Amino acid sequence: MNDIFSKIVRGELPCHKVAENDQTLAFLDINPAAQGHTLVIPKRFGTDIFDTNPEDLAAVARMVQTVAQLLLQTLKPDGINVLQNSRPASGQVVFYYHVHVIPRWEGDGVFSFWRPNPTDHAAFAALAERLRANNQA
Ligand code: AMP
Repeated sequence: MNDIFSKIVRGELPCHKVAENDQTLAFLDINPAAQGHTLVIPKRFGTDIFDTNPEDLAAVARMVQTVAQLLLQTLKPDGINVLQNSRPASGQVVFYYHVHVIPRWEGDGVFSFWRPNPTDHAAFAALAERLRANNQA
């Protein structure tokens, strides 16, 4: 693979490594949203949430917790956001599965999420039914 993160995994491009194990690598984001903004990736390539191996997703999730604890101990943030973008409409620009771990401080104004919409129980019931009907698992 010729993408940036594959090259980082192979050691062909540098990174500021935070933690590593057999399945995952965590390193500082090059353009951080906040101090300590860290990316966690599987060492095995996946594009996004849809095609990444489930075992790698689980390994990344465990590493995300390790990184969150490291950031909490080291930088003493007030909170942490865990964020994953899949496909361009969500904001994904690097097409190698990665999870953002972003320390947050009260009033930092880094970003806010969605504007909540009103509850619509009839629509929710129909939608949940459609989703259950498509569940092959
Ligand atoms: P996303 O929008 O979820 O695809 O985020 C991609 C992230 O990768 C951005 O926050 C970039 O700053 C970060 N990034 C891109 N290249 C590098 C790199 N060489 N080292 C570390 N972070 C990177």
